[in-house]
Amino acid sequence: MCIFCEIIKGNIPSKKVYEDDKVLAILDISQVTYGHTLVMPKKHMANIIEADDDSAAACLLTAKKLAAQIKKNTGCAGINILTNCGEAAGQSVEHLHFHIIPRYDENDAIVLRFDPSKEQDLNEVLKTVKGE
Ligand code: AMP
Ligand code: ZN
Repeated sequence: MCIFCEIIKGNIPSKKVYEDDKVLAILDISQVTYGHTLVMPKKHMANIIEADDDSAAACLLTAKKLAAQIKKNTGCAGINILTNCGEAAGQSVEHLHFHIIPRYDENDAIVLRFDPSKEQDLNEVLKTVKGE
């Protein structure tokens, strides 16, 4: 059973922020910050890599529009839009979704840190990334 498919079918209640024929946006039950919203395709697909282009585009366009709406209406200082892909990346629900996370200050409940890690040979990294 996919919990988001059940929400889309109306079998599990949710707080709907936006809906059209391709996309549903709901309030995240955890509200990591005030106004935390999830945007998902109505069709089941596991994650961004497995998504069809149409659904991915529809979700991202909705996320863009809702980010502006949420920023205006909550007065937040900034917004993170992110999607977790795979358990190792923190994905707990295997139905594609984009988090819209309003940010109020650097001490709010979400920490996104880019720590310095070991130095890499960028030419070697580039070859790997391009599959050469
Ligand atoms: P992720 O860890 O990226 O897969 O995010 C899954 C998100 O779904 C979490 O932030 C949960 O709080 C949220 N979530 C799980 N169940 C529900 C639900 N029934 N209604 C709304 N949000 C949910
Ligand atoms: Zn699903």
